[in-house]
Amino acid sequence: MTTELEIGLYIFILAGFLGYHVITRVPPLLHTPLMSATNAISGISLIGSLVVAGANYSRLSTTLGFLAVTCSSTNVVGGFLITDRMLKMFKKREEFSIQHRRFNPKLLLALPVLIIVLLVLMHGFRRSGNDAESSAVFAAAALRYFYIVSAVLFILGLKGLSSPKYARKGMLLAALGMVMAIAGTLFHPEIVNYRWITVGLLTGGIVGGAMGLRIPMTAVPQRTALSHSLGALAASLIGISEYVRHVAVGLDHVKMTTIGLEVVIGSLTFTGSLMAAGKLQGLLPGSPITYRGQNIFNITLLATVVGTLIYLVFAPAAITLFFVIVGLALLFGFLLVIPIGAADMPVVIALLNSYGGLADASMGFVLMNKIQIITGSLDGTSGFLLSLLMCRAMNRSAMNVLFGAFGKIKKEEVGAAEAMGTVRSITPEELTVLFDSVRSVIIVPGYGMAVAQAQHGVSELAKLLSTRGIDVKYAIHPVAGRMPGHMNVLLAEANVPYDQLYTMEQINPYFPEADIALVIGANDVTNPAAKNNRNSPLYGMPILEVDRAKSIIVLKRSLRPGFAGVDNELYYDPKCMMLFGDAKESLNSLFAALKS
Ligand code: NAP
Repeated sequence: MTTELEIGLYIFILAGFLGYHVITRVPPLLHTPLMSATNAISGISLIGSLVVAGANYSRLSTTLGFLAVTCSSTNVVGGFLITDRMLKMFKKREEFSIQHRRFNPKLLLALPVLIIVLLVLMHGFRRSGNDAESSAVFAAAALRYFYIVSAVLFILGLKGLSSPKYARKGMLLAALGMVMAIAGTLFHPEIVNYRWITVGLLTGGIVGGAMGLRIPMTAVPQRTALSHSLGALAASLIGISEYVRHVAVGLDHVKMTTIGLEVVIGSLTFTGSLMAAGKLQGLLPGSPITYRGQNIFNITLLATVVGTLIYLVFAPAAITLFFVIVGLALLFGFLLVIPIGAADMPVVIALLNSYGGLADASMGFVLMNKIQIITGSLDGTSGFLLSLLMCRAMNRSAMNVLFGAFGKIKKEEVGAAEAMGTVRSITPEELTVLFDSVRSVIIVPGYGMAVAQAQHGVSELAKLLSTRGIDVKYAIHPVAGRMPGHMNVLLAEANVPYDQLYTMEQINPYFPEADIALVIGANDVTNPAAKNNRNSPLYGMPILEVDRAKSIIVLKRSLRPGFAGVDNELYYDPKCMMLFGDAKESLNSLFAALKS
């Protein structure tokens, strides 16, 4: 006989394979929306939280369930809203003039109608049995089918992200799946009280709605980190509630293992993600905090957590030890992230995303809820794949990111820049003369464009050049900026058609034909040392080959290095001219000079 656990494991593995298949088809253009979409979908942990908040287990369980409902609903509402905001911005050139909508907004009206139909259906199921017991069984069976349909809709939603054309429709399907799952769960036979559920859903809806609608696109990395921490906190709280509920009657090995994993992974992801959000928001120092024996200490701490967890599996009644594990896991998440520099946070966020997925899946195992196992597995696969893609594009290993204190090395290397040759600078007015005779320009945006919030200036300049008959293309490096797809989202926000955005592989052959490579706040992703200098930390990282363009203009404030802390030999190339200053101001001056 196949046990529930075995079925859960099969589902987990198969969902992981399916997730891999679907997520590898998402183009780099949509990697940032992918992160927030999986984040929203992983908010499905809400359904487990709803049951704990509404069932009459104990006061502690209700309180923990209420907090978990608040956290998860914040993620669901905020995640879907911000994903939609991003996806709305991705348009092709012709779509700007036609202004047609990709889907009929009246479809959104279907949402409340669907909820009402579902509620009526579930109510009908509940009452259709001859006695209370059979109607509860009937309602539980109906709920299982609701979950199956929701899971299919989630997968179709992620599949939609394989093209900007279908992405919004896909996300609408995923949102419908979420509504179905939540509305159906409200009729869970164990839910007897809706007071705290209502308060939690309202609070989460308002907070998530405000975050989803108001957060600027430049703050997407920290929002993503924050929502990972909320999702992980929800998983952890439900794990604690389940432990406290069952410990008196006894916990078998399987239940204790799954609760332990849920609580440990959830807790470390919670503090780790909070730290990541704090570093990205600038609330905490961005540079790595290191001390002697740090890695050994962290590994010892992790080994202690794992060892204690194994002990608990065999002696689940050791309540104090359980809470010690929670404390140690919280501490481990904090210590794991402090030695990592702010610029490496995106890799950390993606990794924490996959940990969050594992915490959700563990929660699915604890509550034996298959849809949570599926979404946890999808979320875990997505985060893991994205972190691997980032590491590969940076030519670094995950170990180096996690334990290398990369930002620290760079500070020590600054200053070795001088002896490479002469740097030529140019003014906006002088640049206008150059633009008089060009036919093609490739714009290379980088992190500095995001810092300066210069994306609108870039877009305006590109439009002006296009009206003069100049061919404009954008070159997007996979790790330009600070998170996957960062540049695509910012440029889409500034109404740059996505068919003008070229990936590194697509654009590199065009550089030799380009009259000007206009580098805006990009540094590492253009550094020829990655190709030529075996001693450079960047060596081996694929780059945008701007050095092959006929002339190169770089907009940045100084000769200071970028994230990797490596001086850029491009600036000493005789073909290269520096337009020093804040990218936004330089673009404004250039635009004004070209206009006049
Ligand atoms: P970068 O190498 O970090 O360089 C950014 C440059 O922007 C800096 O040299 C800085 O020079 C300039 N800058 C900053 N503020 C500016 C402003 N207001 N106006 C004009 N320029 C400004 O950026 P990148 O070329 O985009 O490369 C990204 C780096 O981040 C890579 O090393 C990549 O490996 C790493 N990374 C990326 C990701 C990801 O997912 N995208 C994840 C982790 C790490 P000044 O100070 O002189 O102005």
